[in-house]
Amino acid sequence: MKKIAILGSTGSIGTQTLELVRDNPELQVVGLAAGTNIELLEKQVREFQPKLVSLQREADCKELKTRLADLEVQIVPGMEGLLAIAEMEEAQLLVTAIVGMIGILPTIAAIKKGKDIALANKETLVTAGHIIMPLAAEMGVSILPVDSEHSAIFQSMQGEKKDRISKLLITASGGPFRGRTRQQLEQVQLEDALKHPNWSMGHKITIDSATLVNKGLEVMEAKWLFGVRLDQIQVVVHPQSIIHSMVEYVDGGIIAQLGTPDMKLPIQYALFYPDRRPMAGKRVDFYELGSITFEKPDMDTFTGLKLAMQAAEEGGSMPTVFNAANERAVSLFLNRKLRFLQIPEMIELCMRAHHRIENPSVEEILRTEQETYELIRRRTE
Ligand code: NDP
Repeated sequence: MKKIAILGSTGSIGTQTLELVRDNPELQVVGLAAGTNIELLEKQVREFQPKLVSLQREADCKELKTRLADLEVQIVPGMEGLLAIAEMEEAQLLVTAIVGMIGILPTIAAIKKGKDIALANKETLVTAGHIIMPLAAEMGVSILPVDSEHSAIFQSMQGEKKDRISKLLITASGGPFRGRTRQQLEQVQLEDALKHPNWSMGHKITIDSATLVNKGLEVMEAKWLFGVRLDQIQVVVHPQSIIHSMVEYVDGGIIAQLGTPDMKLPIQYALFYPDRRPMAGKRVDFYELGSITFEKPDMDTFTGLKLAMQAAEEGGSMPTVFNAANERAVSLFLNRKLRFLQIPEMIELCMRAHHRIENPSVEEILRTEQETYELIRRRTE
């Protein structure tokens, strides 16, 4: 029996993880954390019977307690709840499927308690990779990628020596606006940006895919996860999303992982690694597919990716500014308070205003996050 806890159980990755738990009797859920979705969390608690759960707000926790009066379950609000779940004695593995930098502290707490991490929350590594990866190595815990591209790279590295890697090739669908000009992007509406061509995901990452910011975050995530230099990572636009990413080795050989776009595969791979379990679902039919194509990303139109590469090169606290500015700008866009092209504009403004810290501590990362939010608040109110 493998005991797991999930942060972000009501989201896209969280619910798909629970679907896998439903199909795999060897998995048991001991802790669940969500933000505000009381209805769904209540259903999840009734079905999966965890010992400890959390919602963001105290009032929501009280409401949940009343609804679950017939069950024995502990309910702890906010960061205290996230940390308690991350540190649960009973859990062997923590699935970090929460969105945003709020994932940093619970991830660190879980690693310190020796839990393996199935990591979906890329914002954690983008901003605190220099703290998390050495800590994981020191504690002997595995950081197992859930992001499909990183899972593909991880799968393509099995049985290979890391020092034989020459390049990671991260594929990108190009999002719903591939091929558009900046002038066309001026007119983009929220509904258009939420229509991803291949993947069904949470709102924030769907917008990040439309701006190509997501690909920039993935480059930074890959750098930390696989310990390669930035110049060893190349983004390749591949609109069909069949090749999920590739690794080129020193002899020129390239190993790739392919499949239909379905997040359940990388989630399951992380849950059962190093085993590969059967899974139902649509298979790639190469006759039907016919051809797949590749392009260079258009960084002059999608400046979010260019800014991400700049933040990654500058390093230190700059990726935190990039990420925090993006988080806040996307949230404003989702509330129709910013236009699509104002997302990278806001990121650029914040990056320009920032005095970089070389090797930021967790406190400095969190302070930088707040300062970035404050700058955007002043600029948009
Ligand atoms: P969703 O927006 O669908 O879900 C986010 C989850 O986090 C929800 O359960 C939400 O709770 C919870 N949450 C948000 N804020 C808080 C908070 N303050 N405290 C506690 N819980 C909170 O996101 P996704 O599942 O799409 O993405 C999750 C992470 O995985 C992101 O980092 C994303 O980049 C990454 N990822 C996602 C992929 C995908 O296919 N979706 C693919 C690869 C990576 P509630 O809904 O109850 O408010």
